[in-house]
Amino acid sequence: MSDKRTEIADLGEFGLIDRIKSNFSLQNLTSLKGIGDDAAVIGIGKENLLVSTDMLIEGPHFDLSYVPLQHLGYKAVAVNVSDIAAMNGKPEQIVISLGLSNRFSLEAVDALYDGIRAACQNYKVDLVGGDTTSSPSGLVISITVIGRVENEKTVLRSGAKVNDIICVTGDLGAAFMGLQILEREKQVFQSNPEMQPDLEKYEYLVGRQLKPEARMDIVYELEEQNIVPTSMIDISDGLASELFHLGKNSNVGIKIFEDKIPIDSMAFETAVEFKIDPITTALNGGEDYELLFTINPSDFEKIKNHPDIHFIGHTHDNPNQNVMISKQGTVVPLLAQGWRHF
Ligand code: ADP
Ligand code: MG
Repeated sequence: MSDKRTEIADLGEFGLIDRIKSNFSLQNLTSLKGIGDDAAVIGIGKENLLVSTDMLIEGPHFDLSYVPLQHLGYKAVAVNVSDIAAMNGKPEQIVISLGLSNRFSLEAVDALYDGIRAACQNYKVDLVGGDTTSSPSGLVISITVIGRVENEKTVLRSGAKVNDIICVTGDLGAAFMGLQILEREKQVFQSNPEMQPDLEKYEYLVGRQLKPEARMDIVYELEEQNIVPTSMIDISDGLASELFHLGKNSNVGIKIFEDKIPIDSMAFETAVEFKIDPITTALNGGEDYELLFTINPSDFEKIKNHPDIHFIGHTHDNPNQNVMISKQGTVVPLLAQGWRHF
């Protein structure tokens, strides 16, 4: 090692992952897709195994002063299942690694696992193992999920073609606004503990933050319609950053229309209340866990009336041009911000 020191923040999360990836090559024929998608793809014959892992750490990812442990358990499973959904697969097993400090009682661990069990039942996954260790301070929960998908139905980030239609499920930005509400109420409570938090009005937003769902329903519905998306990713970091990943991996450009981006009315109003441009919450908010995918235009007829799938734009042949057409008709370059952990 030389004396040179480079800050990880200079690379950012994506730069760091690219660097790790470039230093490894795959040695086994069964490793069909390594680093760089929502899950790794492992060939086992007519089907592929899908493996993905996500770690949540107290502090950067959650604040136990307003996150109930039961919800945390549910969310930790849901965000993993979401990565399997993003491959068009079905989750089957999870393993859980837990770092616990002596701040946590048996009752607290029970509450966490109540949420985990609820998610396992909802997504039909089995908890098959894990690891338990002590953690010097906060709670660490790391989940690995294993799923399965038929070979020809496996959807990567890299399959979009020119002129595919870009689709997004549900609505965007609400989870981010839910977090802003929770943070604000925490501040209010800290400065005046007599004040009870006023969360009822914001129930939908807070729910989107605390108890996200993986869109397995969409995976099943696309299957019923005989649609295999050409590319897919789940929206964990914000629409702009995920569009950037799809475009870059598929070597296509992105064109979306601001007026087509689904934003819930409560999220919109609350963003205005917080003096945040509502479109920014959708583009850069994160934690929506909706699915972003592209379809061949020939599949459009089959889902054009789906109440929860929105058609926000299309791909084009210039990979260097990712743009949004604003409500006023101006061309805005799309910048991938993503989360800044470092
Ligand atoms: P997602 O947001 O879908 O969970 P990430 O952005 O976390 O995806 O990860 C992108 C890709 O990089 C995935 O293939 C993931 O497995 C891989 N990856 C992330 N961190 C590491 C790491 N420390 N070492 C190796 N691969 C990693
Ligand atoms: Mg993902």
